[in-house]
Amino acid sequence: MYYTEDTILYLDGKWIKAKDAGVSLYNQSLHYGNAVFEGIRSYDTEDGVLIFKAREHYDRLRFSAQKMHISLTYTSEELTKISYELLERNNLTNAYLRPLVYPGENMSLVAGEESHVLLCAWEWGRYLGDTLLKLMTSSFQRPNPKACFVEAKVTGHYTNSILATTEAKQKGFDEALLLDTQGYVAEGPGANFFYEKDDILFTPKLGNILPGITRQTILELANEMGVEVRERQFTIDAVYQADGAFFTGTAAEVAGIESLDGNKFGLPWSDTIGSELSRAYNNRVQKKEYKNFELV
Ligand code: PMP
Repeated sequence: MYYTEDTILYLDGKWIKAKDAGVSLYNQSLHYGNAVFEGIRSYDTEDGVLIFKAREHYDRLRFSAQKMHISLTYTSEELTKISYELLERNNLTNAYLRPLVYPGENMSLVAGEESHVLLCAWEWGRYLGDTLLKLMTSSFQRPNPKACFVEAKVTGHYTNSILATTEAKQKGFDEALLLDTQGYVAEGPGANFFYEKDDILFTPKLGNILPGITRQTILELANEMGVEVRERQFTIDAVYQADGAFFTGTAAEVAGIESLDGNKFGLPWSDTIGSELSRAYNNRVQKKEYKNFELV
């Protein structure tokens, strides 16, 4: 349930009831997948409600909009301010926020002038759940970085994610792991991927993946913990030999993985660096000093 009778959302400068909001059936994003969005979490902390890394998320939203020629005139500060008001108006503390910037009615394949800004929020548990995941290597590759801006968060890119997750579920797995067009491991349908081997963490380098804000937080935490991380290309065979693995993402947070294509990882999850990082991540999102973006 994403909204109730009383839920309020922000649309183009107005606060309106979610049940009264609508969009034209001639909208360009509905037909061609052109819109940009973010997924952000807020946490109920000792210092009150904090939105984790709001600046990073809104900077990425503005970057995505610019790449897709969708006008977005709000600053990251303004969007953050609206986000806090959204939470307050809906009495939300531990919440998931979904900003979406979408074009107007337009059946052509040219980017138009019109754009709309939606912000809504709801309570959402950890996206991939709390139990260890059974993954399969997807038969779908991540999109070719020369066919689109993979580093932008564009709605249309998620048709690839929907195909991969649906295939995985239909085959009895929890989630998919996708390769890039060169056959190296890329990421999950909605999360970045790490594996560990002999106390070293490995994660795909940038280029074929969404540069995750959680991925970046994990790099920072690993650095503070003195854990070596290698960002590079690797194949699925390297992952089969891993001691452990996990996904990272705002919605999923740090999600431990039990097996890939039926091959279990070497260590029990509780003995992995990933499990330690998962605890460190939960602490970090609770701490004001890491909000690194003052309330406006
Ligand atoms: N990759 C993809 C394809 C995603 O959709 C997401 C979720 N936004 C991520 C990675 C993780 O990104 P973040 O940590 O910024 O949420």
